[in-house]
Amino acid sequence: MKRYSAAIFDLDGTLLDTLGDLCGAVNTALAAQGLPPITEEQTRERVGNGIRNLILRSLPEGAGDAAADQCLAVFRAHYEQHLHDRTRPYEGIPALLRALREQGIKVAVLSNKYDPASKRLIAHFFPGLVSLTLGERPGVPRKPDPTAVLEALEALGEQASDTLYIGDSGVDMQTAKNAGLDSAGVTWGFRSREVLVKNGAGVLIDHPSQLLRYFVQPETLADAFTGRGFGFSYFQTAKEAVDYLKGVCRGKQAGFGGSMTLEGLGLYDALREGGEVQWHWRGDAPSTAPEVFLTSANALALTGEVVNIDGNCNRAAASMYGSEAVYFVCGVNKLAPNLTSAVSRARNIAAPRNAQRLGKHTPCAADGKCHDCRSPERICRALVVLLAPSNGVKHTEIVLVGEELGY
Ligand code: SF4
Repeated sequence: MKRYSAAIFDLDGTLLDTLGDLCGAVNTALAAQGLPPITEEQTRERVGNGIRNLILRSLPEGAGDAAADQCLAVFRAHYEQHLHDRTRPYEGIPALLRALREQGIKVAVLSNKYDPASKRLIAHFFPGLVSLTLGERPGVPRKPDPTAVLEALEALGEQASDTLYIGDSGVDMQTAKNAGLDSAGVTWGFRSREVLVKNGAGVLIDHPSQLLRYFVQPETLADAFTGRGFGFSYFQTAKEAVDYLKGVCRGKQAGFGGSMTLEGLGLYDALREGGEVQWHWRGDAPSTAPEVFLTSANALALTGEVVNIDGNCNRAAASMYGSEAVYFVCGVNKLAPNLTSAVSRARNIAAPRNAQRLGKHTPCAADGKCHDCRSPERICRALVVLLAPSNGVKHTEIVLVGEELGY
């Protein structure tokens, strides 16, 4: 998996949910002209190409440049005073930016919002976390023109090939392409997945923690886990991990917890060739105390905690008691910046996808987000955070694989 040493983020709809304050400022400007207000949904559809275009798209057809100029002046005066009344970072973004800083990743922000407002917002919400902020400036063409991206790369001292561009709109995806950068389209912002794909998004990202895998060097994470008493091993490929686990299980009775990661690795079949292995997904009784218990985790925090959500709880129970050794096998997609983000990942990525896989009638199966439901079909019955290995297990090890595995 390719890893980058720098990130360029879009601002509105990517780092910050600015819709409420943008809509408020547009409506103040429209009211000054005696015009009716627009909704936040209309603001969402019209934002992304600079404030002047947002205003032009909100005025009646043929309103003319003079009306646009007057509206723009009122907008700016109002927005200066109400820049962060309702604006907030998206959940998981501050933790992601802190993790990137701790990993030594250079971060720039590039916005089509005018420069002073962009800089004030970054200083207010992310002090010390962003190296460079560039907003819309006179004489510099707006995104999707690549000029500002190239300026940012030069200021950061980075190459296009080592930098990932992250944004929420088609304009962002085009900007990355025009500047020769790989792109990641985030789905929590102002545009749909379809728009991002149509405009060439390299990958789609549903939660900020999913970006970590493109920046973290997994082999550097050992201390976070061994410092808490876990064993830790890292393999670049799934095949290397399977070979390692075959050695671990040789001559032992092995049991599996329910896991799409283990399914994807083909580990059950690989172990059956060499010894005794038990998995309820293959019709065996659930493993409660095999000599070696293999499972995955819903999230691994860079701070060293292991997070799992469980329904029947056989997997959670067996990961904490009864076996001589427990191995959590995880792809790099399971990494999260800290414990809070790890729990959020488990609830908003892993659990909804499992609910969908199992055909459950839960709210998360419909929209992919946890609503802490009271559904009788709820699959989240226990949330287990291993802060350190259980004393009931002799050896607990994190086996991290440099590929995307499970969810
Ligand atoms: S609590 Fe309910 S809505 Fe939330 S992830 Fe679990 S099943 Fe889905």
